[in-house]
Formats: sequence, structure tokens, C-alpha cells
Amino acid sequence: MRDEMTVPGWARRTAERVAEIHGEGPHVVVTGISPSGNIHNLREVLVAEAVANALRERGSEVRFIFHADTIDPLRRIAPGVPREYERYIGHSLSNVPDPEGCHASYADHFLVPFEESLHEMGMDIEVLRSHQLYDGGAYTDVTREAIERAADLRRILEEISGREMPESWSPYQPRAASGSLTGNRVVEHLPDENRVVFVDRDGNEGVADYSKGEGKLGWRVELAARWKALGVTFEPFGKDHTSRGGSTDTADRMSREVFHYPVPGRYEYEWISIKGQGAMSSSKGIVLLPKDLLRIMPPDALRRMMLGRDPARALELDLGEGFPRFVDEYRAEAGEPYVPFLHLVTVAQTAGANTEVAAEMLRRGGYEAAARDPEKLFHDLQYARNWAGEWAPESLRLRVLEPGEAVEAAADLDGEQRAYLTAVAEKFSPDMDGEAVQDMLYSTAVERGLKPKKAFGAVYTVLLGKKSGPKAGPFVAGLPDEIVRERLSV
Ligand SMILES: [Zn+2]
Repeated sequence: MRDEMTVPGWARRTAERVAEIHGEGPHVVVTGISPSGNIHNLREVLVAEAVANALRERGSEVRFIFHADTIDPLRRIAPGVPREYERYIGHSLSNVPDPEGCHASYADHFLVPFEESLHEMGMDIEVLRSHQLYDGGAYTDVTREAIERAADLRRILEEISGREMPESWSPYQPRAASGSLTGNRVVEHLPDENRVVFVDRDGNEGVADYSKGEGKLGWRVELAARWKALGVTFEPFGKDHTSRGGSTDTADRMSREVFHYPVPGRYEYEWISIKGQGAMSSSKGIVLLPKDLLRIMPPDALRRMMLGRDPARALELDLGEGFPRFVDEYRAEAGEPYVPFLHLVTVAQTAGANTEVAAEMLRRGGYEAAARDPEKLFHDLQYARNWAGEWAPESLRLRVLEPGEAVEAAADLDGEQRAYLTAVAEKFSPDMDGEAVQDMLYSTAVERGLKPKKAFGAVYTVLLGKKSGPKAGPFVAGLPDEIVRERLSV
């Protein structure tokens, strides 16, 4: 568990409702996904984490599970996966080879990087692979129950979907000798042996032992069966599942009427889209991987960003122009001493990997507190540098110009601006702090009858090659004395 649990209000209210139905625990909070492509659905995991923490805050014992649906059949090929993988359609993701050969399976290729990010975020979560749960017998009893109550399950599916199911429908999908879970027809149940007899799509008869992972429940039934098999008391869902006739409608009735298990507490979250790209979707290749986001911000900022103020509302992530403001707001809320993100970007890009030089620039600019902890500063500089390199619009990729570049940039300035810069260079002294420099830049402009925007624009032009930048005083004060004099004498 993280040292500091900050539990948002919506999570606390959700935990109250969960406790009303399921008591004070122990609770089982579950979240899950089919690792059939790049996993981006961090919001769901974070909603579950927040509710798990809210339950813990009430004094309940909580088991927090990430249920990776590794036994699920491959339905379609993820973007970038070779065409010949079509022959594995219908096979369990855990049995399909890794398309790049770097992990144990297709499932692990997508699951492991996500799992690593959850660990990097310090999340107290158990990652369970569904093929292992089936192999180990966790689903044996609910599978037997489901097959025995097949007629009732079918009726529920038909009533909710309004579609007639085929006479041969079974809640159980045995795995054929070919490896395929689809197209096989169950013809007999041998409940005392935990087996079914089935006929595959080519007419061959086979036997599957459901206590040994030789098949799985169909996904709509599995959802309800899983609640009972794992004792789930809370699970969040995206709006696609909770829409009318969606998978939670069928699972709720199956849980109550067939499995006699109380429906777990629920939270419906809205989708996240990416500014300029649209809603996140792994099949469309519109994804933001947690590991990439952790390159530009610390775990708790990522939590704050993905949850937003209220995860029941849609959220558009802006990792470009809007990102510096998000980081500044996050730091201010966290109550820690911080350097405005754009200032940090400039320092990070100017000092390169040299934390010492960066610390000196920050101290001189008036950000002593932020320069004090070298390890934290090292990470903060890395976030700023990665953002500048990977996400920042060109206008915000701030770094101090080399002398030649400064001369070129200065060609755009007029005579008044040049004279202003000369006056500033004369008045500048290395013992001035950020505020003193800010005052001096401003008063010099006023004395010379130059509009501040034009005056400050001249400073940014020769130092950064831009018309604007981070607050000028602390920025200029942080630069080595000789750089300021040299660049301003144009
Ligand atoms: Zn791999």
C-alpha cells in the first residue's frame, strides 16, 4: 500500500454503497481486461484502486485483483501483428505465440508491460491470469453449475438480447484438439467427472475436463461466474458494458437467478480520449501506454490525470500545450515546493543531463527548495526533458540558444529592442535574484517607453528564439552571468 492514501470523495461514497450491500469485508475488488492488444485501460484499474483504498480506510480487509483474461480466444489480430496469425483466431491468448518472440505468449506480450507499470506505480494488486485459474480449478464448481443450469442461462440471454440462441448453445466452450475454443458443440455433461463430451467443427468427438482448464465459460456467463468463484464485492465497468442489454445486464441476472450470488458493487466510468486523436481504442491503435506516460510524470500525477475530478465524466487528455498547466496544478495541490513546469523544461534542456548545473540554475532563479533534493530533481528534470522531446509543441521546446543561433534570432529585433537589451545587460548583476531581475526588466522597459510585451519578447528572442517563455525574472537570474551578458549584447 502507498504511504499516503488520498481517497477522493466519489471513491468514499462508492465504498459506502459497497459496504451497505456486502458488509465490512473482507472485500474482493476486481478489475480485468483481455490482453489481446496494447493495454491502455488504466482508468479502470485506478477507479478500482481508489475504491479498494476507500474500503481499507473504513478498516476493511481488501484483496485487489487484476483478472487478466489470458484464456480468452483471440478474436482479431492487433495492429502490427502479422497476417498469418489469423490461423490462431479462436485459440486462447495464453497459447498463441508472442508475435515478437520476447514473452511466453501473445497474452504476456501485452500484459507484462502493463503489469510492470502497475508495479512501478506502487500498486498493491494481484495479477491473476485466467488460464491459470482455470488450470488450477478455481472455476470448476461454477462451470458445473452453469452447465447444469444452461437452460436458465440461455433464457436470460434471450430475454435481454431479444435474440434466439441456437438449440446447441452451451455456457461452456471446450477446447478442440486443434486448439480452438470456438465452433465446438457440447453434447453430454459428465458432472461427476467434471467433463463434457463435445463435437468439433469437423465432426470429431472429444472430451474436455473443465477442472483442468480444457475450455472456458463463454464471456457473458464467465463474468457472473467469476464474481462467485472469486467472491467479488466490487468491480468497475466502462459505459460500453453497462449500456442497456450490455454484459452487466445479463451478468446481474445470471448472478442473482442462477448462481445465487449478490451482484458486486459497481462504478461506471467514462472513456478517455486523446486531444487531436479521439477516444482511446487498442483496435484503432489510439492508445497511451502507462509506461510512456510514466516517462513524463510521477505515478501520483498519472493517477490524478487519468481519474480527473470525476471518472464518471468523459475526459480529454492534453499532453501537448495543456500539459505544463496540468503539472503545475498537480504540484500546487500536492503542496510541495515546485518549479513551474515550463521553467523546468528550459532548465532541463539547457543543462542537459547535468543535475549540478540544473540545481545551480534553479537556486539562482529563486527555486532553492526544489534544488535541495538531488534525486527528486533528477527525476523532475527527466520528466521535463522527456516531455519536451516527445510531446511538446515546437513553441514550447524551450532551451537556451547557442551564440550563433542567438545572433540569427536577433535579426528579427528592431532598434528599440536592441537598445533595451543593451541597457538590461549593463544593469544585470549575478547577485540579483529572480524577483530583482523581473523588476529590473520591467522598470527598464518603462524608462525607455517600451511596451513590456515587446521588451520581454526581445529577451525571449535572444535567449530562447521564441516570443514567449517561462517567467522571465527567475529564468534570466538562473542563467550564468556571462551567457546573459553575451546574448543580450546584440
Ligand atoms: Zn513480447
